[in-house]
Amino acid sequence: MSTVLRRSLLKYVAVSPWIINRVMADSTSETNIPKYQIGDTVIEFHTTDGYPQRWKETYENTIKHFSNRWGRVGPTHIFLVENTDWNPEPDDPARVEQLKISQRQLKQTFANLQGHGSDGSHLEWETGNHWAGWSIKPPQLMITMTMSPYRDADQFVIGPIHEYMHALQTAHGYGQEAIDGNRMGQSLWTGPAWWREGSAVLVSAVYSYQTPSLFKSMKRNMSWRGLSDEMNRNLEMYQKIETSISSGVTHDDWQRLEAQQRVHSVVYAGGSVACAHLLKRTGSLDKFMQFLPKVAKLGWQPAFEQHFGISLPAFYEQFAKDVAVAEPRQHQPPSEDNWCYFLKSIK
Ligand SMILES: [Zn+2]
Repeated sequence: MSTVLRRSLLKYVAVSPWIINRVMADSTSETNIPKYQIGDTVIEFHTTDGYPQRWKETYENTIKHFSNRWGRVGPTHIFLVENTDWNPEPDDPARVEQLKISQRQLKQTFANLQGHGSDGSHLEWETGNHWAGWSIKPPQLMITMTMSPYRDADQFVIGPIHEYMHALQTAHGYGQEAIDGNRMGQSLWTGPAWWREGSAVLVSAVYSYQTPSLFKSMKRNMSWRGLSDEMNRNLEMYQKIETSISSGVTHDDWQRLEAQQRVHSVVYAGGSVACAHLLKRTGSLDKFMQFLPKVAKLGWQPAFEQHFGISLPAFYEQFAKDVAVAEPRQHQPPSEDNWCYFLKSIK
């Protein structure tokens, strides 16, 4: 049976540079169940013409390192996009023209891969717009990254891990029920927004800290102090906003928080602190990550309760209590009474 898919792009615009888009199907049938591979599949890179080799290699190296450990899922297509505003010095006109032409061609490639008939001109590839998404038919996971090495060099290590976490969540996150019920991308099967973004923020920071070799071509790596500062900044931001992560679950929640400019504080910052508490419960990054494959089988919430050994409402309650007494410790030598001190030696 074949069904014509009408697709629409639902865009999450956040104050944060991390943006998730999704391509959703309005009508589905069994033949439309995406078969993302979770073993050892293709991760293909696409770049604009003349993309700096050194930065492409840094990005590729990070993806390789991270996916060797947690599985190559996909097929995944990663688009590394250079923009004319990267360089603080103005580019010469010939280079500007080359990039424009190259971007147009790359957008066409992107649209073709997603099974669109379009030329891809709807894609927003401005610097700072990072994106992770998927298509159902054909089943493809897509990542686009636009950061400038002049401004956000760290994002050539942290960024790939963050976005690849979304690829892992997606590849592991779908059950047939989600497709049948037209609930692709909804919280039931991919988890609450705070989980999706929080785990991506936390895992990218922790893995970067654990793996200094990823920064070998750069001036500095992610130090313990850097990790502690980031997590304490997130804690402080979340405490100040006085809005529980439990209000950052569904797509509607996201829209509401966005209108109040609270997405970053609740979903990203609060979510990362919540995920740090979950990481502490499991005791290691390995055990934390072992949650992901359980989602397709059990559904997100039952998997959460089984894996982390606590009901979701009880976790929200406990987390609120923990946050209320935690003290943000930014810009101080991180000591043992730092709420996230356990991260220093997490395996
Ligand atoms: Zn994200």
